[in-house]
Amino acid sequence: MSLPIKISTSELAALIDEHLGVKNLDKNRSWKVLDSPISGRGVFASRDIAAGEIILRDVALLAGPKTNDTANVNTCALCCCHLEGNALDVMCKNGCTLPLCRTCASSNRHFDECELLKDWRPKDRNKINSHILRLISIVRCVFLQDQQQKLLNALQANSDKYYMVELQKAVACFENFPRHKEMLEYFYRTICAFNTNAFEGNCQTAEGEIRVRGLFPLAGLVNHQCTPNADHHFEDGQTIVLTATRAIRQGEEIFTSYTKLLWSNVMRNTFLMVTKKFMCSCPRCLDPTENGTYLSALFCRAQGCKGIVIPVQTKTLQPDWRCTTCESVFPHSKMARYQDFALNTINNRINKGSVAEMITFINDMCPRFCPSSNYVLVEAKLNVIWRMSRPTTEEFNEDHLKCKERYKEEIVALLEKLGAGDCTLKKLITEEIL
Ligand SMILES: [Zn+2]
Ligand SMILES: [Zn+2]
Ligand SMILES: [Zn+2]
Ligand SMILES: [Zn+2]
Repeated sequence: MSLPIKISTSELAALIDEHLGVKNLDKNRSWKVLDSPISGRGVFASRDIAAGEIILRDVALLAGPKTNDTANVNTCALCCCHLEGNALDVMCKNGCTLPLCRTCASSNRHFDECELLKDWRPKDRNKINSHILRLISIVRCVFLQDQQQKLLNALQANSDKYYMVELQKAVACFENFPRHKEMLEYFYRTICAFNTNAFEGNCQTAEGEIRVRGLFPLAGLVNHQCTPNADHHFEDGQTIVLTATRAIRQGEEIFTSYTKLLWSNVMRNTFLMVTKKFMCSCPRCLDPTENGTYLSALFCRAQGCKGIVIPVQTKTLQPDWRCTTCESVFPHSKMARYQDFALNTINNRINKGSVAEMITFINDMCPRFCPSSNYVLVEAKLNVIWRMSRPTTEEFNEDHLKCKERYKEEIVALLEKLGAGDCTLKKLITEEIL
C-alpha cells in the first residue's frame, strides 16, 4: 500500500529545484519533473540528450552505509569506509554506540548525531548498536530542514509491516527514544519512503571501496523500465549521477532499471513486486522471447524433445510455459521447480572452488540441464569474468582466457539484442573498469 501524498507535481518539482540548489542545477538542464503515465510522476527529457551524456546529478537527502542483518558493524556510520579492529576499538568514544572512523568520530557532522543518540540513552553502551546502525540513515531525518521534510513527505512511500518491526527494534535499544505518535509516524514514513526510493551501490573513494544506500529525491522519481535509457553510478557517498545509455529525444521519459538487466521476465517482475509493489509492462516484459534473448528458457520436459520452453503469457508471475519445438504446455509450478533446481545447482558452485573448476562446470555440466541462454547461466559466466578480472593468485591458461573472451562476447551480444546501449554493465565488461 502506498501512503498518501498531498502535493502536486509542480510543487514537487519546485522542492526538487530547491533541494539541488544553484550548485547542482545545470543551466543547460536536460530534464523536468512531470506527470507520468507509468506511475504518477516521472522525469522527462526537456531537450535532446546525447548517448553518454550526464543527465542529472542528485544529492542524497538521507544516506548511510548499506548494512545487512548479519550485524555488519565494521563500517563507519558516516563516511561508510571499512573499519579495521574489533568492535570496541571502532565504537565512538563518546557513548553513542555507533562505529566510526577516526576522522568522522571527531567531525562536526557527527557531533549533533552523537548528542542526539546519547540523549536517547542507549541501553547497552558497551556494544555497537547494530539496529541503530542499520537505521542511521532514517534517524538522520531528525536533522532535515522544513523544506527537506516537505520533500521527503512528497515522495512515494510504500508501507510494509516489516519496517515497523525494524523501527520497534531500534526503539527498544534506548531508554528515551522519542515515543510520541507524531515522531514515530515521521520515522515510519521516512523508512517507507527510503525503502521505496533508495539507491544502493559501491563507490570508490580515497579510503577504498564503500557500499552506500541513499535516498535521492530526483533520481528516485525516475521510473523503471527493464531496458532503460539511463544508468546510474555513485560519484561519492552523497552523490548519484544518471547517464544516458542511448540518445534520448526531447519529451521522452527517462528510465532506469530497478532490477538486474540480465534477469528473466519472471525473475525481474517477482523482484519488482516484492520490493517495489508493482509489475512492469515495458516492451521487453510483453515479449515472451525478451527480444530474442530467451533469458527464461529451460529445456522441454516432454519425452524425447530437445526443445526449449519459455513463459507464454506476460503480465503474470505464474505464466504457462510452452515448448518452441513440440508446443507442449507446462504449468508454472513445474517450470519454477526446474528453474530453482538450475539456480541452486549453479549458485552452489559459484565462488566455491577455483575459476578453472567453474569454467569446466559451466562448459561441460551445465548444458546437460540448462540452456545456455538461461539467465542463471549468464550470471555464472559474468561471475567468471569478474573473478578473472580482479587481482587473484589463480593462474589461467590459454583456454581459460579464451573462455573469458567468449563469455564477454556472448554477454555483449545479449545486451545488444536487448537494446541496452552503453549501459554500465557493457562498460564494465568491455573496458574492465572494475
Ligand atoms: Zn568515517
Ligand atoms: Zn558518537
Ligand atoms: Zn519491464
Ligand atoms: Zn518440446
